[in-house]
Amino acid sequence: MSFSQLGLTAELVRAVSEEGYREPTPVQRQAIPVILEGNDVLAGAQTGTGKTAGFTLPLLHRLQQQPRPSGGKASLRALILTPTRELAAQVGESVSTYGKYLPLRSAVIFGGVSINPQIAQLRRGVDILTATPGRLLDHIGQKTIDLSRLEILVLDEADRMLDMGFIRDIRKILALLPPNGRGGRQNLLFSATFSDEIRALANGLLHDPVPIEVARRNTAVETVAQRVHPVDRVRKAQLLAYLIGSRNWHQVLVFTRTKHGANRLAAQLEKDGISAAAIHGNKSQGARTRALADFKRGAVRVLVATDIAARGLDIDQLPHVVNFELPNIAEDYVHRIGRTGRAGNAGEAISLVCIDEHAFLRGIEKLIQQEIPKEVIEGFAPDPSIRAEPVFKPRAARPARAKRGGDAASRPGGHTSGQQETRGSKHSRRKSAGATGNSTQTTGQHKRPQQARASRRPKAARPGS
Ligand code: AMP
Repeated sequence: MSFSQLGLTAELVRAVSEEGYREPTPVQRQAIPVILEGNDVLAGAQTGTGKTAGFTLPLLHRLQQQPRPSGGKASLRALILTPTRELAAQVGESVSTYGKYLPLRSAVIFGGVSINPQIAQLRRGVDILTATPGRLLDHIGQKTIDLSRLEILVLDEADRMLDMGFIRDIRKILALLPPNGRGGRQNLLFSATFSDEIRALANGLLHDPVPIEVARRNTAVETVAQRVHPVDRVRKAQLLAYLIGSRNWHQVLVFTRTKHGANRLAAQLEKDGISAAAIHGNKSQGARTRALADFKRGAVRVLVATDIAARGLDIDQLPHVVNFELPNIAEDYVHRIGRTGRAGNAGEAISLVCIDEHAFLRGIEKLIQQEIPKEVIEGFAPDPSIRAEPVFKPRAARPARAKRGGDAASRPGGHTSGQQETRGSKHSRRKSAGATGNSTQTTGQHKRPQQARASRRPKAARPGS
């Protein structure tokens, strides 16, 4: 099946073929016709499945086909909400790329930069806005965005937005939108996992949604080969350096549970002669962008990331993901390993598991409904005399004030140690996640946002632009 058989306009088919896409992915095959018909959608799609084009292409098609209502210069027609700055930038770039032959204007807003250029861009008129919830609310507060004529709403990675404590922000935004349902606003909700909270959000938002499911719910991406290497907690860094060196890995994304852990591990790897950078919520947006760019172009061999910072990273054909520490939230494992094996490429996800983490491992295996193969690496067999220790030390009585770079907060019910990158605290969220990139693009001009995905797309000739 081709993109034109899905009923997309010639301009969109041309843009995707210039991206090198030969045929639609399963989620695109399912979602595009349903969205083109104007239905609400509840989609269970892993990251890496092509879900962004799955909602962006029909969204652009519908806006192109339905002329802008008269007198609506400054009002927005489509809003895409994403949990993190990185994902907002990537989705915004997809909008710009797929829409490059359409006379539609798009913008990306997220925090960490001045709000003023964004205000100026919004005043000039934007059809499609990709935003993180916090900065969107800042704009709404300043009356620089008018949502009253919104035609399409997309919640991308909705599960992660709830994990990050954005539910109240989302509800505030929803309360400002025009009426829902057939003939009114079209709503599309994408999520990798489905908790009761997601279902409750979907029930309140979606009108008679068409369910779309491309991978079995809560299962890990199938193209990823998973393996556990049992090892003692104090020997993990050594084992990681050994694996990277002996297997000659050149682009490895490594997950730690805490920001300090990420810094420590990156420093340790550097000492071992392996170039490494850390990326987490305490780093400035500039430092995160630089680290990611260095990693993408191969100047840095290992990127050490916390879950929150890694959300939204899309690195083409990333071959290796390592869980230096298992996440305490089983769903995070699914998100982490979704960084590899993207768009059908083979990938490998390795977990270094010490005795303290056996309960986390059981939780993950239960969630993904499969047992992950275990392999002891010679010379790194765990010492059977070592006893398990609690992963999270009880917190001192101190309010959680995790300073974050735009996407952290304490997860309700989640544990936090002093070091864990936390999610959801109102304080921290308002302080920095409100986030605001300021890249506005007119799709025809195709300006790239600061987190450009240039490296993973072939440069296409752009006649007429
Ligand atoms: P996503 O799941 O939306 O983050 O997409 C994952 C990756 O797949 C991105 O690098 C896309 O550019 C790429 N992609 C999306 N759709 C297709 C397609 N139909 N054929 C090939 N690659 C695709």
